[in-house]
Amino acid sequence: MQYTWNDIEQHIAACTHCPLSRSRHKPVMGRGDYQADLMIIAEAPGGQEDQQGLPFVGRSGEILDSLLKDCGLAREEVYITNIVKCHPPGNRDPKEEEKEACFPYLKYETFLLKPKIIVCLGRVAAQRIISPDFKITRQHGTWTYRKNCALTATYHPSAVLRDPSKYEVVKEDFCGIVKEYAAGGGAVAKYGLYTKYR
Ligand code: SF4
Repeated sequence: MQYTWNDIEQHIAACTHCPLSRSRHKPVMGRGDYQADLMIIAEAPGGQEDQQGLPFVGRSGEILDSLLKDCGLAREEVYITNIVKCHPPGNRDPKEEEKEACFPYLKYETFLLKPKIIVCLGRVAAQRIISPDFKITRQHGTWTYRKNCALTATYHPSAVLRDPSKYEVVKEDFCGIVKEYAAGGGAVAKYGLYTKYR
């Protein structure tokens, strides 16, 4: 049996697979275009996301929207989600067991979306998705090609909130992402065998 987007959302809404279920207000399912070629993955919902049940609201969301707009993209054109769907108290990093418990949801979102490009926002997402030893300060904006997908990472918008001088750095990474997007994603660029599954 294949689950639908709606099925996944219902599973997440009722999920008690890790302790974050006890402290969350609202779980935060990914949002965006279910036909998008570009998937953005961050680590976890923040406090405002927890209250509203939506990803990237508040100041970090405004910065993400601005970065996308500066590079010619709109939020409605991409799909945005998190490694864990429930807010870790105090904005701490999600624990290993929480990431593992929640990972099947992300895998299913990726299975349904079949993105050409995955962008990890921040160290935690990059280390879970690209490589456990990924160094965001040294490796942001670099590309890894896996199966039919191109993967990259840049700083989380909250890092721009803490240090506004990073905005231009992240914008440069996003403009590189748009170029890769225009080139058709990793499979076309590297292997020439990308096939659209849907
Ligand atoms: S973080 Fe994920 S695994 Fe944990 S309760 Fe929330 S939805 Fe379930």
